[in-house]
Amino acid sequence: MKTTVVGYPRIGAHRELKFAVQKYFKHEIDATTLDETARELRRVNWQSLTEAGLDQIPSGDFSYFDTTLDTANLLNIVPQRYRDLNLAPLDEYFAQARGYQGPKGDVTALSMKKWFNTNYHYLVPEFEDTTDIKLVGTKLFDEFKEAKAQGYQTRPTIVGPYTLLKLAAFNGTKTAADYVPELVTAYTDVLSQLAELGADWVQLDEPALVKDQSVADLALFQALYTPLLAAKKLLKVLLQTYFGDLRDSYEAIVNQAFDGIGLDFVEGAQTDKLVKTNGFPADKVLFAGVINGKNIWRANYDEKLALIKSLPVKDDQLILTTSCSLLHVPYTVANEPKLAQHYKRYLAFAAEKLTELTDLKAIATATNQAELQANQQLFATPRYQENEAITKQVAALKPSDFNREPDRATRLKIQADEFNLPVLPTTTIGSFPQTREVRQNRAKFKRGEITREQYDAFNKHEIKQWIEFQEKIGLDVLVHGEFERNDMVEYFGEKLDGFIFTQNAWVQSYGTRCVKPPIIWGDVARTQPITVAESVYAQSLTDKPVKGMLTGPVTILNWSFTREDLSPQESTYQIALAIQAEVLDLERHGIKIIQIDEAALRENLPLRKTDWYPRYLDWAIPAFRLVHSKVQPTTQIHTHMCYSEFGDIIEAIDAMDADVISFEASRADLTLLDTLQEDHFQTHVGPGVYDIHSPRVPSEEEVATTIHKILAKLPLDNVWINPDCGLKTRGTTETVASLENVVAATKQVRGEL
Ligand code: GLN
Ligand code: ZN
Repeated sequence: MKTTVVGYPRIGAHRELKFAVQKYFKHEIDATTLDETARELRRVNWQSLTEAGLDQIPSGDFSYFDTTLDTANLLNIVPQRYRDLNLAPLDEYFAQARGYQGPKGDVTALSMKKWFNTNYHYLVPEFEDTTDIKLVGTKLFDEFKEAKAQGYQTRPTIVGPYTLLKLAAFNGTKTAADYVPELVTAYTDVLSQLAELGADWVQLDEPALVKDQSVADLALFQALYTPLLAAKKLLKVLLQTYFGDLRDSYEAIVNQAFDGIGLDFVEGAQTDKLVKTNGFPADKVLFAGVINGKNIWRANYDEKLALIKSLPVKDDQLILTTSCSLLHVPYTVANEPKLAQHYKRYLAFAAEKLTELTDLKAIATATNQAELQANQQLFATPRYQENEAITKQVAALKPSDFNREPDRATRLKIQADEFNLPVLPTTTIGSFPQTREVRQNRAKFKRGEITREQYDAFNKHEIKQWIEFQEKIGLDVLVHGEFERNDMVEYFGEKLDGFIFTQNAWVQSYGTRCVKPPIIWGDVARTQPITVAESVYAQSLTDKPVKGMLTGPVTILNWSFTREDLSPQESTYQIALAIQAEVLDLERHGIKIIQIDEAALRENLPLRKTDWYPRYLDWAIPAFRLVHSKVQPTTQIHTHMCYSEFGDIIEAIDAMDADVISFEASRADLTLLDTLQEDHFQTHVGPGVYDIHSPRVPSEEEVATTIHKILAKLPLDNVWINPDCGLKTRGTTETVASLENVVAATKQVRGEL
């Protein structure tokens, strides 16, 4: 029996990569210095994994931005518009990731989407008719050699050809099947070169296999892998899957000439059954993903050992691994000195999960049972604080609690009279730039260097300035700017009962940006107002409506680390009742428009369609309805969702019964508009007129063109104009310029109507 992991976090235990990359973007360091930081991070990872006692360690899981983009670039899949910029290789890479605006040209970034059911984002590879797929890159080989020079034999990992095609956008006339021959050749070359360099294994990541597979999908898979596996020589090929099970492809896959198959025994509801009923071939290695790569809890050793012992494979055929890459969890509990031992003993971040793997191997293969007994004791003690009042309130919920009266069409008429807004009302999504000063103010307050009054006074000053700016440029519905928030979930968690927080438990979200999810530790309850003071202050400064700004229950749940003993439905209803109380408090204090963000709603949608309603939407949609069901007809409820694919859940989104929704769709090319049109979407909608994930400033003409595209598909009276997400990650100068152009473009279009 051996141990390994699918992949490891790469940002650095103290986000070193993020800070280095940001310095590079600001021209404070050059590519060589950035490369030194990256090398050091890789070295530390290989060393930690080796010292932890793993038998196999990955390479190639490092990236400056995204490993899907790395794989595309390795194979020359770089759209022409980026080549035309004639930038240095690293800058061409970043141009694809973030767009480019400078002396060499002006191009938008590649689309970015959520990586399966996680909060990690990948860049969508774009295949053009002229795309000439061939092995041109060296990153994968360089990193293998780099590790080897340091004495580490690694298992290079890349995205496999099937998943690459399934995630790609095809911009010309060709379809996925047209690229198969070239892809087979390119991957064959990758495998040969790795073999020449002395690799024993390569890992091809194929998570796309855990989604529903059609006959055509499986044929595409075979068309790629049959020739690829026939061409391989010395190198062993690991087909790595995660985030689910292979219920529709298991047989086909075990019959292919893979040397190893990586299966997810945690999220893969049917993995165990598949392996046991169909058996596992004796000539292949089973990479059994038994340790949860997504949660932060210690594993229950008794349960894991029972699973390991029941697997129908011999010990020398078995490699224990994680259910997916550890990219989705923070580095180590050791970086949490402030967290009480009472909590910490239940936690396992990436580093601690390595120990779990080696512990399980030791317990399963040796007689030393001390670790097992310690683990059994842990699971025998109750851990959470319970709140009976809340659990009773959830149990007493009735159907009318989930239903707002009167219906939306009637409400929207009442609200049109109430607010008297112009056509194409303009607004923003909530946050304004979290400048260094804003962050320093918070840091000083946290360190006790300034008083609460001083802290609030600074934020009030920011609110005032930005309200003035919004009035000056002529936005119609204003926001206070969210200066008091470090993060849209942690901020709410801090004010609610039932959460605990970490100092350094960062998890990568997109590029080198990270989030620090709070941990739900008990029943959730509201004991104090959360956002009322800031909203009321902002509203006192203007006659225009200021939107109250809340995070919705599904997003709070999805962006927290959740309890394992309570159903997500139960946890989400608890949170929904807390946010409902906040909504009603805002309304009582004169806030007439309230936005309840459900940025992450799409994210936890099960990967298989058959699971969508029973396992998720059947409680996620009601949870949102519960939050706003008790407000007055005159109160306008907005929501916002971050980009990913919405096309297939439009009906569910309409059923959330919000009055207005803003979507983060601009980077997905506004294809969503077609679906909204076809499905007669009822909720009023701001599809997002420019991409805030890029520092580039959209011109007035560009925004006007986008507005016209929107109006070609949606009824004029239903449309709102806004950026596609919050502006907290942007600089002040680009934000001001972009919003001025948005308002100017809207006025221009209004004039043409
Ligand atoms: N209101 C939030 C903001 O503007 C929404 C952020 C998000 O969707 N990720 O920052
Ligand atoms: Zn968003």
